[in-house]
Amino acid sequence: MRKKIVAGNWKMNTSLEEGKALAADVLAKTTGSEEAQIVLGVPATHITAVVETLGGKNGIGVAAQNCSDKVSGAYTGEISASMVKSTGANYVILGHSERREYFSESNEELAEKVNQALANDLIPIFCCGEPLEVREAGDMYPFVKEQLTESLFHLSAEDFSKIVIAYEPIWAIGTGKTATSEQAQEMHAELRAHLASKYGQEAADNCSILYGGSAKPANAPELFACPDVDGGLIGGASLKAEDFVAVVTSF
Ligand code: PEP
Repeated sequence: MRKKIVAGNWKMNTSLEEGKALAADVLAKTTGSEEAQIVLGVPATHITAVVETLGGKNGIGVAAQNCSDKVSGAYTGEISASMVKSTGANYVILGHSERREYFSESNEELAEKVNQALANDLIPIFCCGEPLEVREAGDMYPFVKEQLTESLFHLSAEDFSKIVIAYEPIWAIGTGKTATSEQAQEMHAELRAHLASKYGQEAADNCSILYGGSAKPANAPELFACPDVDGGLIGGASLKAEDFVAVVTSF
């Protein structure tokens, strides 16, 4: 049975003190008995402190928002998957559309990042999603399936079983424009069928597919009620503990 997961993506927000306070606030507002696994995707500079603040309580996981596709060496400014792991994080968000767009991350490079994450025992939250013009042209299913094929389908069945997928239509990220629950369900079902075509129905049924794109307390219950939506990747609404926890408890 697949896990329900709600992951926050703080992006490039919060000072260290603000980040610790936000993590402490999420901890205080949760009990550990929530239906969903909670993950905080925090700036790399904050991971150690957030891990310490959480102290392993309520089963809350911590994610980096990126890692290098390289093992180590002369790559100034980069952070390797093993470094991320050594900070105490257990997840890493990979292939966010902002990284694809502003840092030119390709499907091929992301395949390497996925490999690095798995080799270092980090669970990848692999983001995919189409831009507005692709949706308007009606080409969103092949577009997003290709992202999965090119970055994930080299994995063994065992490695694939560790992957979490986040479908994030780019036109809905940070725009206040959410996909309708029908659009989310249709895409998630298409993606699950695509996963089944490669790894079999059982493996596809066990894969958590999260929705991301302006999800908030007001729309999370309807999105999370969709049979193939297994939780969310939450940007803006993860910066306020009250809103984030309201999303977490929207199942
Ligand atoms: C995101 O950054 O992954 C995201 C979904 O952002 P927002 O919730 O703000 O649209």
